[in-house]
Amino acid sequence: AWAAVPAGPPDPILGVTEAFKADKDPRKINLGVGAYRDEHGKPYVLTSVKKAEELVASSNPDKEYLPITGHAEFTKNAAKLAYGADSIPLTQGAIAVTQSISGTGALRIGGAFLARHYPNARIIYLPTPSWGNHTPIFRDSGLEVRGYRYFNKETVGLDFEGLKADLLAAPEQSIVLLHACAHNPTGIDPTHEQWKEISNIVKEKKLFPFFDMAYQGFATGSIPNDAFAVRHFVAEGHQVALAQSFAKNMGLYGERVGAFSLTTTDPEEKARVDSQLKIVIRPMYSNPPLHGARIANAILANEALYGEWETEVKSMADRIISMREKLYNMLTHDLKTPGEWGHIKSQIGMFSFTGLTPAHTQALAEKAHVYMTRDGRISMAGLNSGNIEHFATSVDAAVKG
Ligand code: PMP
Repeated sequence: AWAAVPAGPPDPILGVTEAFKADKDPRKINLGVGAYRDEHGKPYVLTSVKKAEELVASSNPDKEYLPITGHAEFTKNAAKLAYGADSIPLTQGAIAVTQSISGTGALRIGGAFLARHYPNARIIYLPTPSWGNHTPIFRDSGLEVRGYRYFNKETVGLDFEGLKADLLAAPEQSIVLLHACAHNPTGIDPTHEQWKEISNIVKEKKLFPFFDMAYQGFATGSIPNDAFAVRHFVAEGHQVALAQSFAKNMGLYGERVGAFSLTTTDPEEKARVDSQLKIVIRPMYSNPPLHGARIANAILANEALYGEWETEVKSMADRIISMREKLYNMLTHDLKTPGEWGHIKSQIGMFSFTGLTPAHTQALAEKAHVYMTRDGRISMAGLNSGNIEHFATSVDAAVKG
């Protein structure tokens, strides 16, 4: 039956991990995958998560199905985390929210819901570049995917003029995907002032803002600060869609904990939207998994654990920021590597768009056992005091050719 099925291309990010695993050199470094590593290069389970798991286990919970939209206390707390406790639609009971299979699942539910119910929904605009999975997620949801300018190669910064021009030229009622913080893959976020301008354009052009918030807390180490864009848009009266992931900020990657929400006009509208979210989700996977939502909720619902978690998120963010400083200093001051490396320090979140070319990345893999995606994106979390020198000297050698 499958004689005519062509072989598909390997996933560009997971392919990097395959190459890394096959390399037997002890100096090898994997900077491809976007998962936090501790200062010894090891996966990190948060202490607050371990305590939350103990709390969950000691309550001896059953394994019954969750409702279609998931763990109700978890989704309520997830919305509070994103929108803020004093958010107007939240206090009015006007946010429709469902648990999701992490951030990816939230985006997919959102794409499917908007394709079906957003008036005249046809087009979604993504930043160029964006997380590689955005295009297939929204295309498979039935939307037409277009790009808006985001990255300026010359400045290795935000192409704000291009971004504004492209949003101004978009047809009314287009959907615009916005990375709420820690833009992946560039590590470049708009400033608060720029977010305000984007909000005005979205309003003026009657566009629909869809936020992808996969890194709340991970960008600056502050939960409210990283939610600035979402909260500003809501305060400005926009109705928004929001995909949340707890993969990074709680280190719950494989537990697949997330939420999708829509702000609505009032509780009556919310109830109608809720009913249609269920109709979208039920044929996809019936209802979401229990364990991760219980862990996340145990943290969000418990003041002491929440405080501990906030400190841990900040320490992960701070370790990444310190690696940025160190790498910048090594390249610029110690090695005098040709080029301007200031962006390594100024970029935000887990990733840095280094400006290294595909030829550089190939040389780094072959000669130095250093693995990253071909676009020169590195996960800063993969660096630590034990490997950063090997990385910096290898980059220096690759750039000097
Ligand atoms: N959005 C962005 C921008 C991401 O970087 C990621 C993770 N790489 C996700 C969404 C979704 O990840 P997950 O499904 O693991 O929550």
